[in-house]
Amino acid sequence: MVARRFGIDPAPLERVAAIYPFRITPFYFRLLQGPDDPLWKQVVPDPAELAEDGLPADPLNEECLSPAPGIVHRYPDRVLFLVSGSCAGYCRFCTRKRWVGKAKVSFSDVLAGLDYIARTPSVRDVLLSGGDPLMMADLVLKEILERLRRIPHVEVIRVGTRLPVTLPERITEPLCRMLASFHPLFVNTHFNHPRELTPEAAEACRLLADAGIPVGNQTVLLRGVNDSAAILRELFQQLLRNRVRPYYLHQMDLTHGTGHFRTPLSCGLKIMAELRGTLSGLGIPAFVVDLPGGKGKIPLLPEYGALRGNEVVLRSPGGEEILYPDL
Ligand SMILES: *Cc1c(COP(=O)(O)O)cnc(C)c1O
Ligand code: SF4
Repeated sequence: MVARRFGIDPAPLERVAAIYPFRITPFYFRLLQGPDDPLWKQVVPDPAELAEDGLPADPLNEECLSPAPGIVHRYPDRVLFLVSGSCAGYCRFCTRKRWVGKAKVSFSDVLAGLDYIARTPSVRDVLLSGGDPLMMADLVLKEILERLRRIPHVEVIRVGTRLPVTLPERITEPLCRMLASFHPLFVNTHFNHPRELTPEAAEACRLLADAGIPVGNQTVLLRGVNDSAAILRELFQQLLRNRVRPYYLHQMDLTHGTGHFRTPLSCGLKIMAELRGTLSGLGIPAFVVDLPGGKGKIPLLPEYGALRGNEVVLRSPGGEEILYPDL
């Protein structure tokens, strides 16, 4: 479909899609402008995905950190709970590209995951992810949320979803009302480029926010898509205007088949330095690296301070060095 509309040879794309599934919504498809487009690059298969890069399919070691089906338990107090194997569109840079669009999560898997959470009292925070949890029917999702809420030690529920971006019509008033009945529940969405903030996506965010659901956003820093301070400043400003709080800017994971999207760490640090002072602090996410091997996420900050002998020298957002009279 994509190849036909843009008059390109479908064969190389099909070879990639045979390994890493291709899917796009008609809505997102209409936003594409051609092969150099930042939206195109996110969803259309690219032969670069098949490059021999020697990188692991599961760089975060999620499969070893999984004590039950669909559970990734890396930190004592919170778990990832992969409840859906599908998304409305498959991002070419996805960390779980080994899995999304291929895995089937059965309801008995979900029950086994719920059972693990129920018998693990240290878990206070459950992140529903996948795949995309909102790909499930409202009734199935409600059933899972009800069962989670019956577990007394589960305090916070988070839902990670890209559907406000790729399938905004999925975000309906009844869905938001249902989600809001399980508070405290947070939604984290996934916008990567200002052009994804269409009127329809903005409406989806409005429905969530009007239902009283705090909405955050995770962005992946992607070469050739959003790797500039100007693009990200625009994105984060527009998100704030839509009551969506930028939460994380992710350094690309070291996932097999995604090397063409990776930027050096210095790129993200430079962008963070340029945002500070020129964008409302509310709009500045943490720049995080998920350490290889599942060692955890850490924030990286530009260099703002240095000890010089007995002196502390701090750098202003404008780059000026200020001698700070420390005690
Ligand atoms: C990212 C992640 C979380 C959530 O981390 P926060 O910093 O609390 O948002 C939890 N578990 C796993 C395995 C993760 O990768
Ligand atoms: S929506 Fe999320 S889980 Fe699905 S393909 Fe994109 S990054 Fe991966």
